[in-house]
Amino acid sequence: MKPADSIQDLQYFGEFGGVNPSISDSSTYTFLSAKTMFDTFEGNADGCYLYSRHSSPSNLYLGEALAAMEGTETSNVSASGMGAITAVLMQLCNAGNHVVSSRTIYGGTYAFLKNFAPKFGISTSFVDITNLEAVENSITEKTTALYCESVSNPLLEVADIRALAKIAKKHNIQLVIDNTFSPLSISPKILGADIVIHSLTKFINGSSDTIGGVVCGRQELIDQLRNVNDGAAMLLGASMDSLRASSILKNLRTLHIRMKQHSHNAMYLAEKFEYEGIKTVYPGLKSHPSHNIFKQQMNKEYGFGGMLTIDVGTLEKANELMELMQKENLGYLAVSLGFYKTLFSAPGSSTSSEIPEDEQKEMGLSEGLIRFSVGLDNDIERTYQSMKKCMKSVGVL
Ligand code: PLP
Repeated sequence: MKPADSIQDLQYFGEFGGVNPSISDSSTYTFLSAKTMFDTFEGNADGCYLYSRHSSPSNLYLGEALAAMEGTETSNVSASGMGAITAVLMQLCNAGNHVVSSRTIYGGTYAFLKNFAPKFGISTSFVDITNLEAVENSITEKTTALYCESVSNPLLEVADIRALAKIAKKHNIQLVIDNTFSPLSISPKILGADIVIHSLTKFINGSSDTIGGVVCGRQELIDQLRNVNDGAAMLLGASMDSLRASSILKNLRTLHIRMKQHSHNAMYLAEKFEYEGIKTVYPGLKSHPSHNIFKQQMNKEYGFGGMLTIDVGTLEKANELMELMQKENLGYLAVSLGFYKTLFSAPGSSTSSEIPEDEQKEMGLSEGLIRFSVGLDNDIERTYQSMKKCMKSVGVL
């Protein structure tokens, strides 16, 4: 079953027969009997709602659709991608535990593991996720989680999820994959991951009007996250608001159409940039070191995703080019991704600035790197011609 087909097959009726489910506009819920309230606190009253930090009908509808997309038993939506990531890691690790993480991940996740988690006695080894030997050698008896992004932010390294799943299984640890950069294109659970996370803020919502996140996984894990006594989602409190859940669910329904267009446009630009001699990284290019791995694990029809990077040498040139492209209305100089307009930023000085400079260098994150989230432009050839003019004008071409 294709992931977008699973979303299509869900059927909802609103309270009054509406084609969209009614929005649960309540923070708390009544009970006909006090006994049921007690049972709900104990987690034993299916279909009853307690309090919207725990769950709400609107959040459950969105969660059901996202679980269907990822092929997991269930999911829990959260107020942000970081709300999902931090809750999962805090749930999987006790003081004294250890995480093996890819060294190229979103700067916020990196900062959490490097600077924040140690306050609770949780340590992390950062490794090159494409070096499977290094990954396995970093695992100790204290390790509880292997963490990475299917396509990494910002270097677009591709994780070999099948191989990582084998390692995780062998050592009895949880493989946690952040799939934010490649929704629909890659289905980590089908490839063997235990837990799949998204920042819904990006492609899935697609309109840059909200923050959101989700953890997709087994029922047991999601129940643990929501447990009123020791659940990280419930107790840390990064719960999504019902109004947002309902708006994200509506946007999710067009994700497959948008991803095809994002991928088509990104492939077009990547091929042209590379042809012009610009250092270009895109998983769809044969020159990408993990092109074949992406191909072997992708759901073909959605393409290689909307993210690409180019390296223009220096931060000054990168800034000059981005400012000019914005002036020419080719996109916005902004962080984040998955918008209908192209977004570009220099990760070294923005979304990855949490990573110290020497470590940036070591992982190949150069200061002239520009990350593009390629938009839904209808005429990408025209966009390319205008970008080429900008590149010539600032001396990049
Ligand atoms: N994961 C990835 C790959 C990201 O790029 C981001 C944000 O940029 C996040 C997680 C965090 O998501 P949010 O900003 O929704 O908390």
